[in-house]
Amino acid sequence: MSRGNVTVIGAGMVGICCASYLQRAQYQVTVIDPLSPGSACSFGNAGVIAPGACLPLAMPGIWRQVPGFLIDPLGPLSIRWRDLGRSFPWLIDWLRTSSPGEARRISAAMRSLHRPAFDCLEPLLRDAGAADLITRNGQLYVSSRRDAVLGSPLAVDLLREAGVRTEHLGPDEVRQLEPALGAVRSGLLFPDNGHATNSYRVVQRLAEHVVQRGGTIVADKVTGFDIADGDVTAVIGATGRYPAGAIVVAAGAWSDRLAAQLGTKVRLIAERGYHVTAADPGAMPNRVISHVDHRVAITPMDIGLRIAGTVEIAGVDAPPNFARAKKLVEIGRAVMPRAGLDTVTEWMGPRPSVPDGLPVIDRSPHLGNVIYAFGHSHYGFMGGAPTGRLVAELLAGEPPFIDSKPFALARLA
Ligand SMILES: Cc1cc2nc3c(=O)[nH]c(=O)nc-3n(C[C@H](O)[C@H](O)[C@H](O)COP(=O)(O)OP(=O)(O)OC[C@H]3O[C@@H](n4cnc5c(N)ncnc54)[C@H](O)[C@@H]3O)c2cc1C
Repeated sequence: MSRGNVTVIGAGMVGICCASYLQRAQYQVTVIDPLSPGSACSFGNAGVIAPGACLPLAMPGIWRQVPGFLIDPLGPLSIRWRDLGRSFPWLIDWLRTSSPGEARRISAAMRSLHRPAFDCLEPLLRDAGAADLITRNGQLYVSSRRDAVLGSPLAVDLLREAGVRTEHLGPDEVRQLEPALGAVRSGLLFPDNGHATNSYRVVQRLAEHVVQRGGTIVADKVTGFDIADGDVTAVIGATGRYPAGAIVVAAGAWSDRLAAQLGTKVRLIAERGYHVTAADPGAMPNRVISHVDHRVAITPMDIGLRIAGTVEIAGVDAPPNFARAKKLVEIGRAVMPRAGLDTVTEWMGPRPSVPDGLPVIDRSPHLGNVIYAFGHSHYGFMGGAPTGRLVAELLAGEPPFIDSKPFALARLA
């Protein structure tokens, strides 16, 4: 018996995982998105699934690097001058999260959401007949500097306290594991991590399964809401109107606009990332590689070799700067000298980020039937399935499988 209708706004990894878990909890779901499932930020990520991901981007001391972020438009993290007015308050809040105490708070929350990443995603993929799209064969961090891969003493502490398994590797051990890599001087293997061999297909297959189970996916852009007596009664789209039992806002980097219409102000920006994918590179790594010097991930996918990463803080709808993608090719040539990268596709996607980099997974403080699920920053592909499970539990009023407080709106007040 159905528990009622839920309208999910956004068909990215987060929205589709919410729809999947809501169906499992006996809700009838309608997903609304003008794009086909997985076509925005979820399309081109590096596909890393890292239960051990618990190191915030803004670690203590990051402020020393800010001048570099402003000067080098092709650096690992750059800020577009013309968007500085809008991003400045976010940047100040972001730097505030770089104290050791904040880093510990954020790290613990990251670990709690990411630890069950495989456990929450695998059942959805199995049901969709797509379990082969993910692999659990580890993730290897490398650096061309000796010991740089270890990170700061705080990073080492956070990983140890979180119980994340790691194995230190010297240059020879790295060469044995990953003969396609050029010379590196240190390596750190995370044996419990893994990756998707095609992150876009993951979302598509899950979306297809949502429809097979009786859900509806509507191509429309949400423009407003009907609100009466403290509830949203209908979602208004550019081409239709959809009665709402409950709604989930999972519109990625565009979620702040919808939240504002629902009475919730959130400081959300686009941390835009880029990728290049070479369909026929000749040489591939055996597992996903993270090069800490360049801040890129190199993923062996079924569509070829993907080099993805870096951060560009710019307007969500501003045109891409594909010089950043060309820089990724340069990095790829240095890191994987035998890979053929003459022909690549280029892509940019907006990571939805609030200043502490954690998602908002919470009920609206103003409207009884609204749940927010956005802001997954660098981790929305792996965070999507645990978020979906949490959203279904919050809506059903069931005890959440992980503590939901670290993801509450109240922390951003
Ligand atoms: C280069 C790069 C590498 C990354 N690597 C990884 C990784 O290895 N592992 C990882 O876990 N994460 C990674 N990420 C982050 C991850 O991709 C994102 O966190 C995730 O895709 C966010 O998913 P989402 O569903 O919230 O947003 P999206 O995928 O952007 O989906 C949001 C959807 O909402 C829709 N929408 C917006 N406005 C409306 C509206 N008004 N009405 C209806 N629909 C609307 C959009 O059309 C879109 O389809 C990476 C990101 C980048 C850029």
